[in-house]
Amino acid sequence: MLKVVHYGLSALLLATAAAPSVAQEVNVYSYRQPELIDPILHAFTEKTGIPVNSVYMAEGMVERLKAEGARSPADLVMTVDISRLAELVNAGVTQPVDDAVLDQQIPEFYRDPNNQWFGLTSRARVIYASKDRVDPSEITTYEDLASPKWKGRICTRAGTDAYNVALVAAMIHHHGEEYTKTWLSGLKDNLAKKPQGNDRSQVKSIWAGECDISIGNTYYMGLMLKDPEQKQWAESVQLVFPVFEDGGTHVNVSGVAMTKAAPHREDAVKLLEFLASDEAQALYAELNNEYPVDPSVPVSALVASWPTLTPDDVNLAELAALRPDALRLVEEVDFDG
Ligand code: FE
Repeated sequence: MLKVVHYGLSALLLATAAAPSVAQEVNVYSYRQPELIDPILHAFTEKTGIPVNSVYMAEGMVERLKAEGARSPADLVMTVDISRLAELVNAGVTQPVDDAVLDQQIPEFYRDPNNQWFGLTSRARVIYASKDRVDPSEITTYEDLASPKWKGRICTRAGTDAYNVALVAAMIHHHGEEYTKTWLSGLKDNLAKKPQGNDRSQVKSIWAGECDISIGNTYYMGLMLKDPEQKQWAESVQLVFPVFEDGGTHVNVSGVAMTKAAPHREDAVKLLEFLASDEAQALYAELNNEYPVDPSVPVSALVASWPTLTPDDVNLAELAALRPDALRLVEEVDFDG
């Protein structure tokens, strides 16, 4: 389950480190795939000489940090989705980092108001639309997804999936619970089939003619285009960026937080500042076709070919706080049933 990747220092040291160490190094626990973050951690080591040890985890990060307590070797945790960042903060395994460089590099709505976590890249949750059967001008808002004109034409993954819960939380932020519940029912009525699979399998369904539009994160377009089997799915659709009637396009982040234990806090702050730097942001943008949180950093060529993103600027911590309400509404309308 665990994969250990190390730079310069042995994996054994990471496994046994307990007391605060004087050695210069940073230890990272990551829910992000090694192929995404390792090149960036490598760049940091090359630049500073500070080795970074990263442990990839598929699950159980909070439990592990809790079990390790003050003896944890981990300095930083990296993950996607505000729900997982909020989960770490709520579990009490993070600490705030007040840092002028981070404040300057990362827009306010992409970081925790108490500096417990920082967004590093953002991704928009948008519409994948059939090139043959949908004109992009037909979808301009998220609210419109509940319109009867889409009856039997929409595919999506489960409503209880974290990406969709965040979208529903954003709808609550803009319109309140009552509206959102009605919207969710309308969206459910428009589904071509029961929610199942991941964002990419919805695009496959469009390609197969089962539905005309689906809801998905932007970077999956890049991933599908790189995959020999999925390329044809990707080529059957185009991206449409809806907005909220009184806002922008829904975004979520991948982010980072300092652990409470952080035995190498000083070096970890240097890595944090590097991750937020234009250099690392550009690397990230290129590797996974995500959006740099710093709008001055250029996007990848593929991302530049998409519609221009105007992110909804609600603070993501506020959306994280609305998640329980969002999940309850999803269950009340039996969205996945
Ligand atoms: Fe994803």
